Amino acid sequence: MSSSHTPSWLTDGRPAIWPPYARLDADALPVASASGVRLTLSDGRELIDGIANWWSACHGHNHPAIRAALHEQLERFPHIMFAGLAHEPAYRLAERLTKLVPGDFSRVFFTESGSVSVEVGMKIALQHAMIVGRRYATRFLSFRGGYHGDTLATMPLCDPEEGMHAMFSGVFNPGLLADLPHDAETTAALDRLLADSAREIAAVVVEPLVQGAGGMKFHGPEVLQTIRRLCDRHGVLLIFDEIFTGFGRTGTMFAMEQAGVTPDILCLSKALSGGTLPLAATLASRAVAQVFETSDHPAAVLMHGPTYMANALACAAANASLDLFEQEPRLQQAAAIAAQLTAELEPCRGLTGVADVRVLGAIGVVQLDRDADVLRSRFPPFGVWVRPFRDIVYLTPPLTIDRADLAQLTGAIVQVVGDWSRGLK
Ligand SMILES: *Cc1c(COP(=O)(O)O)cnc(C)c1O
Repeated sequence: MSSSHTPSWLTDGRPAIWPPYARLDADALPVASASGVRLTLSDGRELIDGIANWWSACHGHNHPAIRAALHEQLERFPHIMFAGLAHEPAYRLAERLTKLVPGDFSRVFFTESGSVSVEVGMKIALQHAMIVGRRYATRFLSFRGGYHGDTLATMPLCDPEEGMHAMFSGVFNPGLLADLPHDAETTAALDRLLADSAREIAAVVVEPLVQGAGGMKFHGPEVLQTIRRLCDRHGVLLIFDEIFTGFGRTGTMFAMEQAGVTPDILCLSKALSGGTLPLAATLASRAVAQVFETSDHPAAVLMHGPTYMANALACAAANASLDLFEQEPRLQQAAAIAAQLTAELEPCRGLTGVADVRVLGAIGVVQLDRDADVLRSRFPPFGVWVRPFRDIVYLTPPLTIDRADLAQLTGAIVQVVGDWSRGLK
């Protein structure tokens, strides 16, 4: 970008910004506006967004219906403390979510980020254990390849080696870690681990069908059925982290629908607000909630209450987002995206340096046999925003993307990965 187009706020503010998952001198492109699937940079260049605001902007950027809902809510108030005071956007949203989610969920706790919603799920499981007299149940079991957040309590749930937190090993007590039960051997191993440790385990935590930040790894619905069965057999609660997979990303509204099983506690965030404002929800099944409702144990009061919980603007955005899912054919759009990704990423398969090509719903992945970060800078010249991480180059576009824009994204990947692959020889 020529310096005449570099806005002064970028140069002035840059020394003060601490960027995520990057060295302090990391570059960032200045965005002037965003609309639909396009980001417009300060110099006027447009990038088609293949990542959708870290997998959250399911209706594209700046959707007029969500903007209108925000304007309307702003006329009343942006935020009201949520203890002792109630407001319509949150109460309507809670009721809608309990009806929308499959299974029998009866209570919703709102927070401001996915990581915190997982922590709230963990806290519900811990307090549930206290109430029912499972006083040694203080640990959590999660799976290799998993990712459940960046906060200190969720880090031990993440894959210790493949995740983003390897340097912290030894800082906190590790959680119990198992392989996903995808065959007889791993199923028997999980069964044994639960038989030995169930007494100490408050809950098992898993991302249904897709382990996102752990590398966009897919597993079959039978894996979730096995985990559900083993949790029931050993009497431990099951938490599904659908923060990434929820709201149509895998082709169904929730990934768990493809397995026909439901958890005891469910975490939602990312696309909950249509990728506009920070919001997360932790849902408890009726059976879990009833334990709290009917007990006079001190642990029947959930010990959590963030300042900005159930932010009214964020809840209004989420209600508008759910309206869009009702009014527009998002799941058909996800199916069309899946078909197009499958056809158009196929040329990457078999290239030197490419380990795998896979698609599920509106998630397309080209996995390399080595680190893919070096490819990051090669995408903007193609007019696309694609951001490889670890060993994968992937697309999670807005579900509203049209054929031509998606073809530009897949075309850029085929070109960039192809050029890179030919350079290896
Ligand atoms: C993004 C993500 C989180 C963490 O959400 P934040 O809002 O970034 O804290 C947790 N679990 C999964 C599966 C995620 O994809």
